[in-house]
Amino acid sequence: MFIVILGPPGAGKGTQAARIARSLRIPQVATGDMFRKHLGEGTELGWLARSFMDAGALVPDEVVCEMVQDRLQEPDCAEGALLDGFPRSLAQSEFLDRMLAERGQRVDRVVSLVVPDEEVVSRMGGRRTCLSCGATYHVRFSPPKVEGVCDRCGQPLVQRPDDREDTVRARLATYHRQTSPIVEHYRQGGVVLDVDGVGSIDAISEAIARGIEAVRR
Ligand code: ADP
Ligand code: ADP
Ligand code: ZN
Repeated sequence: MFIVILGPPGAGKGTQAARIARSLRIPQVATGDMFRKHLGEGTELGWLARSFMDAGALVPDEVVCEMVQDRLQEPDCAEGALLDGFPRSLAQSEFLDRMLAERGQRVDRVVSLVVPDEEVVSRMGGRRTCLSCGATYHVRFSPPKVEGVCDRCGQPLVQRPDDREDTVRARLATYHRQTSPIVEHYRQGGVVLDVDGVGSIDAISEAIARGIEAVRR
């Protein structure tokens, strides 16, 4: 099963994606995490992505699509994956549809997390991220067991440089201009599940799980 989780920055995509991926036993493919890993390792791809990420803009489609194509060709993605942060433009969604069609597969479900801009801005200041495994926390709403340390892998938590308010606003503008049209693209295919992303993390997970269960039957 291929599931896409869509929503503005800070909507809770990563938080929810980790839970869905675990319960469905499919890999979580998070393009933002992949870029941050490249940045940390100082690869050429990391250097290329950096200026776009710092500006709150999208990394060019060709670059992202090639990276995702390579990842989806790995054996653990043969039967499905949870795509978190991809696609983010109409061109990327068309690329994904075509790539899956060639394999006789399709995007089975698109979870669209709906969160107002002001809620995003207020959440981001408290976000803490593990650059090692991609887990995210919130100082108030989802704190780690030990302050500043990742529950999952024990590595230190950091505040992402692009979580500063001015960059968050730029990312929101990018989302509204380039990413939100994808929801309409998939709506025509009848696969979109709209989920209110404001509320407790557990209640949102339950709503998503119910919606996914409904299409599996
Ligand atoms: P968030 O979780 O806050 O929505 P991500 O971690 O998914 O952010 O992405 C961080 C940055 O990485 C984006 O602002 C963008 O610059 C780049 N990026 C991630 N995924 C994509 C993509 N599919 N297409 C283009 N750029 C991307
Ligand atoms: P995204 O991957 O969409 O950018 P994250 O999953 O990283 O979003 O969540 C953004 C921030 O908001 C994190 O600090 C996370 O702990 C927190 N968060 C996630 N879901 C909720 C929620 N339902 N209510 C409040 N804060 C949340
Ligand atoms: Zn970690």
